[in-house]
Amino acid sequence: MPLPELRVDSSRMLADFNDLAFIGATEQGGVSRLALSNEDLQARAWLADRFMDAGLIVQDDDAGNLSGILPASEPNARTLLIGGHLDSVPNGGRYDCSLGLLTALEAVRTISEAGLKLPVNLEIIDFTDEEGCWQSLFGSRALTGVFAYSTNGDEERDEGPFRAALFRAGIHPGDIYRARRDPATIAGYLELHIEQGHRLEQAGMDIGVVTGIVGRTTYRMTFQGQAAHSGTTPTAERRDALRGAASYITRAFQMVEEQFPKAVLNCGNVIVEPGAFNIIPARARLTVECRHIDRERLSLLEAALTDLAKTVASEHRLDISIHQAVNMPVAHMHDTMIEVIRAASDHLGLQSMPLISYAGHDAQIISGFTRTGMIFVPSLGGRSHTPSEHTEWRYVEQGANVLLHTILRVAQGHKP
Ligand SMILES: [Zn+2]
Repeated sequence: MPLPELRVDSSRMLADFNDLAFIGATEQGGVSRLALSNEDLQARAWLADRFMDAGLIVQDDDAGNLSGILPASEPNARTLLIGGHLDSVPNGGRYDCSLGLLTALEAVRTISEAGLKLPVNLEIIDFTDEEGCWQSLFGSRALTGVFAYSTNGDEERDEGPFRAALFRAGIHPGDIYRARRDPATIAGYLELHIEQGHRLEQAGMDIGVVTGIVGRTTYRMTFQGQAAHSGTTPTAERRDALRGAASYITRAFQMVEEQFPKAVLNCGNVIVEPGAFNIIPARARLTVECRHIDRERLSLLEAALTDLAKTVASEHRLDISIHQAVNMPVAHMHDTMIEVIRAASDHLGLQSMPLISYAGHDAQIISGFTRTGMIFVPSLGGRSHTPSEHTEWRYVEQGANVLLHTILRVAQGHKP
């Protein structure tokens, strides 16, 4: 059967985009729709209305994931999930938190209006708390069954407010496990997202075909020294926690640049105590994050970063404690999905290139559960998680058409 020459309705999708951008709109032109906030719940209600307008079956699960479903021709068909998220970071952009779902909605509406009966159910799904306001990738973790309520690795966080937010959104913590789906019922997962970098823009490409998502490991490191009078304690006798931490930061970046050129490192925060002009710092608490696309190199980098912390601590006569907070494994997109997205782009006369994602996505979790593919569209200047985040609308339209034709190809190639 030849594939139908469908195209999405770009102006209808743009009207939806503008509507949705009102919900949680900020003065700077961005949006704040933190997961489980009033704005997030309002956006979900808006999306549920759009699902109903499109004649889709509206459904939610015990983790608050919201779905709109176009049923297959057969009753026991498997389901192709097409995902995204409505939640944003504080004062984020309008594209990150909307394009996945808006392009999925438009693609499925187009298929539905054409009267096509596919051998798979098409399920558009809004995942709860992708951004990690409470716990990152919460909804996709719940769906794939890798969610564990107590393993956010952040022993300093009070779970009370999270539980309260869950309850307010109608999610009962004890029932979250019920959101787990059987992978045998799933035909695959697709997601369109902005690139959040500027490789497509620099290469003059229309579409990024994601091949993998970097693994990410984070640490809380505490350098412990001794508080003392900063005037009367000789330099050689000091146990200065901040000097140790500062030396660590400098040397860690140097090491990554020299030995792990494909990795990225971030030291995002240092908290120094007691924190006064005239007291030698007793304690410096440092947050460290590293990312790499290669599993083995990431393990080597992890070992190198923790070894270096121990070395620097002993050189400065400090005690060190290292707590690993997050360990997100490297994810690979499925070869079939990569090939199908590339073929759909070629078919539409678009220029595509393979890309690694340096940012985390629900696809990262789901790639271990079902065959997964991701489509990137260009981000102006690579800007993301800021109100100035922008993607030219023609790229959104092109991406939606690639998603549409990817769905058709995946469905056609699907053996029930
Ligand atoms: Zn996102």
